[in-house]
Amino acid sequence: MPELPEVETIRTDLDPELRGARITRVRIYHDDLILGGDNRRSFSQKVRGRIIGGVDRRAKYLLFSLFPAGAPAPGAEPERLMRVQLRMTGKFSLGLLRPTSDEFRHPGIELGLDDARTLFYDDTRRLGGFDLLTPAQWKTLEARIGPEPLPRGFTWSRLDACLSGSRAPIKNALLDQHRLAGVGNIYASEALFRSGSDPRRGAGSLDPCETRRLHRAIRAVLREALASAGTTLRDYRAVNGRSGSFQSRLRVYGRDGGPCPRCRHRLSRIVQAGRSTFFCENCQH
Ligand SMILES: [Zn+2]
Repeated sequence: MPELPEVETIRTDLDPELRGARITRVRIYHDDLILGGDNRRSFSQKVRGRIIGGVDRRAKYLLFSLFPAGAPAPGAEPERLMRVQLRMTGKFSLGLLRPTSDEFRHPGIELGLDDARTLFYDDTRRLGGFDLLTPAQWKTLEARIGPEPLPRGFTWSRLDACLSGSRAPIKNALLDQHRLAGVGNIYASEALFRSGSDPRRGAGSLDPCETRRLHRAIRAVLREALASAGTTLRDYRAVNGRSGSFQSRLRVYGRDGGPCPRCRHRLSRIVQAGRSTFFCENCQH
């Protein structure tokens, strides 16, 4: 499932290409890809003819700002936000023709643009989808999402505030998007390994020194993954089928049974809240 580095890679690919493009055609292959209160018809009506002001990201969501036709006034609020959740297998390509490669065999939604290109959304398992929100609706939803971990303002004491008072295992707390945005299963295991904290410990039990180490580790692993265009283990692709390359630099994720890169002890896999956690029992405390 794409996490912050993967979704941000897709955003960076799409934003300069789509900024200012007008949507002239909407084709929806499956109704279940339209989430929220809209159906196929109302979704198309609200999207067709609109200009894409840009593509943003918050947590693991992509947000396309839609403006009415005509040049949007500088600083104007968008008419709506088209929010995309990629979940397990959602992916985009952009071009004149639908790609013919194996990864794009499950067309979901097509947005035709005024320059003859089409933005193709493909989703094998159809767990992702699109919904339309007014800026006010988004503001309400957004307020419930935890802080973004990469901006300069995200200090270690903000991480401390995210985790304090939680008795949940630290690994589970890191995945909780209401506490912290964008971290998922892969980067939680990797960050905890780098910081040397045992994923089973209570989130609120870290001392200031451990919280500082974890803060540094989260930011470092996300930045490095972003520089590698994310991690492609199976399904994730950046735009037009490009794979990420961080999978070769994972230190513990998916490496259970192999040696710990730090102490050579055998790495473990456990299940926490239904998700796999990978760690070293010898050097994570
Ligand atoms: Zn170890």
